[in-house]
Amino acid sequence: MKNCGVETALAVEGGMKVVSPVTGEVVATLKAHDVAETEAAIAKAGEAFRKWRMVPGPRRGELVRLFAEELRNSKDDLGRMVSIEAGKSPSEGLGEVQEMIDICDFAVGLSRQLYGLTIATERPGHRMMETWHPLGVVGIVTAFNFPCAPWCWNSALALVCGDPVIWKPSEKTPLTALACQAVFERALVRFGADAPDGLSQVLIGGPDVGDALVTSEKVALISATGSTRMGRIVGPKVAARFGKCILELGGNNAGIVCPSADLDMALRAIAFGAMGTAGQRCTTMRRLFVHESVYDQLVPALKKAYASVTVGNPLEGQALVGPLIDEAAYDGMVAALGEVKDLGGVVHGGERVSVGPDTAYYVKPAIVEMPSQQGPVLRETFAPILYVMKYSDFDAVLELHNDVGGGLSSSIFTTDLREMEVFLSARGSDCGIANVNIGTSGAEIGGAFGGEKETGGGRESGSDAWRAYMRRATNTINYSKDLPLAQGVSFDIG
Ligand code: NAD
Repeated sequence: MKNCGVETALAVEGGMKVVSPVTGEVVATLKAHDVAETEAAIAKAGEAFRKWRMVPGPRRGELVRLFAEELRNSKDDLGRMVSIEAGKSPSEGLGEVQEMIDICDFAVGLSRQLYGLTIATERPGHRMMETWHPLGVVGIVTAFNFPCAPWCWNSALALVCGDPVIWKPSEKTPLTALACQAVFERALVRFGADAPDGLSQVLIGGPDVGDALVTSEKVALISATGSTRMGRIVGPKVAARFGKCILELGGNNAGIVCPSADLDMALRAIAFGAMGTAGQRCTTMRRLFVHESVYDQLVPALKKAYASVTVGNPLEGQALVGPLIDEAAYDGMVAALGEVKDLGGVVHGGERVSVGPDTAYYVKPAIVEMPSQQGPVLRETFAPILYVMKYSDFDAVLELHNDVGGGLSSSIFTTDLREMEVFLSARGSDCGIANVNIGTSGAEIGGAFGGEKETGGGRESGSDAWRAYMRRATNTINYSKDLPLAQGVSFDIG
């Protein structure tokens, strides 16, 4: 496969190994790009920008419309690729591709709505307005657990906004990226000649390749999805060169189950939120506060659901929980469970399950009943562990809810209007996503996606997130014969 002028083969001697978590076996070795190739890709994207920014927005939207068609044609294959590389269940793999299709459809409409405001001016005979223009090259760095949708949240918007994109996918899931690029190229062929070379490129490699994008002054916007650890490195580097940055980092998401909750609905929502994608979603529910009056009803039912959930190979059968991404993820889970036991936590589940070769890491999702919020409960362990805590006072539990570094997603289960409104109010959840009677995960593309605090503050996808991919100009036009100065300042040179 040709990509950025570099041959990307699936079996390169001494190349970057791609391991499927389904079996733990190497499924491909790829030639990684180096820093020089990254710089060449950035230069090519810069050239593409000069042309693409002059193509009208609705015409740019036509390319994304064609891409959505190609994605529909390739949905099954891409979904299976996600399952092979990230270990997701077939339904979740297909769901991730559907999310790409949805954001493309959104972006096509958006391509005719890139509008600014007309603003009242204090000066007679003047008009003031804002205009939005393409920004420049967008560098997209993505995490393993969503190997394609976050790229598309960024690229579909960036492309209609007039920006070329360069994608550095996770070194753990590069094949899905190459497949997406191949699908995009089909759309490019159909689109015709006004798509410049270098409009969308994929760079294969690890943090060094990402760093070359992050530090390049020729990349106008870096959109980086991954751990808070990565964001702490990337954020300051982009800021140091006054670049723009969208950070989509880790979360420590919680649910609160109130006395009036529909417990059956809560149970199902918590099960998907905490165990879906084997606990490897940024929005996975990791903490659960249950009111003391319903604790003895809900928690035993949850433990039963956990004990009966099917763990297995996502490519065969109907298992709801697939593998962890690798050994390091398993070690992180074992370490966190060991730590909480020392803090008085009672662990249910969490054992390794033998599915296929020893090189694959499957686990029973774990529920941990905790006496208080401390130790590993305060951080994100990227594995299926749900810490459950009992509460009695609503105001106190809101404080605890917000008393962690992550600020991505949150939910409350209640039928009490007052509790619901407080949770959504200024003194309620401090997260970028606050839900009522649904879990923390499974966001739709129509809303802006992202979170506060250690989640990085970025917003992607729907609502007005498109503005991050454009530059804003405020224009004041004087159509009078005078030159009144703002704020009544006089500067009369006679
Ligand atoms: P990671 O931070 O290890 O890697 C993410 C990406 O960053 C990879 O492409 C990696 O190569 C790159 N990277 C790492 N260090 C870098 C550096 N110094 N410079 C440039 N690039 C660098 O994360 P991961 O293990 O792949 O993914 C799991 C994490 O991602 C979790 O914390 C999860 O919560 C988070 N995540 C967040 C969101 C969100 O939207 N908020 C979505 C998905 C995943």
